[in-house]
Amino acid sequence: MRIRHIKGSEEYIASDPFVIQQPEAYKGKWKKEVFGNDAPLYLEIGMGMGTFIRTHSFMYPENNYIGFELNTTVLYKAVKRYEGELSERGFDPGDNKGRNLRFIRSDARFLCEYFEDHEVDRIYLNFSDPWPKDKNANKRLTSPQFLRLYDRILKKDGRIEFKTDNRGLFDYSVETFPASGWEIKEITYDLHNDVRMNEGNVMTEYEAKFSAKGNPIFKLIAARTKDQG
Ligand code: SAM
Repeated sequence: MRIRHIKGSEEYIASDPFVIQQPEAYKGKWKKEVFGNDAPLYLEIGMGMGTFIRTHSFMYPENNYIGFELNTTVLYKAVKRYEGELSERGFDPGDNKGRNLRFIRSDARFLCEYFEDHEVDRIYLNFSDPWPKDKNANKRLTSPQFLRLYDRILKKDGRIEFKTDNRGLFDYSVETFPASGWEIKEITYDLHNDVRMNEGNVMTEYEAKFSAKGNPIFKLIAARTKDQG
């Protein structure tokens, strides 16, 4: 989808207190230096406008959250929405102290430059771009190349939660996870009608849009296989 550039979005992001300008400076120190605590660190890669992670951050103040997004305009919209929500809740939208959500604008290819080995407790991949042509397969966020990066930054007992309405990407991922040393612990081909897996589900923007059209939502939860430890 083509996203129209918003004038001034780069400048806004460059000075926003919730956007981490030099994420490499916090490698290995996110909890202590950015959040000032030792709470679990949850990362959504390709968060879009961030409904999912913004909502999670309010629902679970005991956790730390990072929304990771490649596109500047999309990130700008996510940040503006978050700051609007802070205002509505009576918080100062210019003050990041004590808040449990931060944003990074970058490409997931560079994750290992920003996060130390096993620093992240959980990774969320929601409605990742499908890249349907074989020649672009390594751009899929569930390709073996990306799974190797997640293997490094994720805690040994950490998990990846992936949902999409794209059957091609989901079928591909059902093969790449086990082939890359991950066990699919839970899986559904109709999340919204799966009472157990849907419990506590927070819909993303894409999820709301595509489920309203009648598309079933697929979800899997993966963790390392035992021998990968
Ligand atoms: N997760 C949101 C949702 O479910 O509504 C957005 C889904 S949208 C289809 C995919 C998002 O992933 C886009 O905003 C895109 O810019 C971002 N993205 C794609 N490849 C990325 C990468 N390599 N690193 C970071 N973000 C990426």
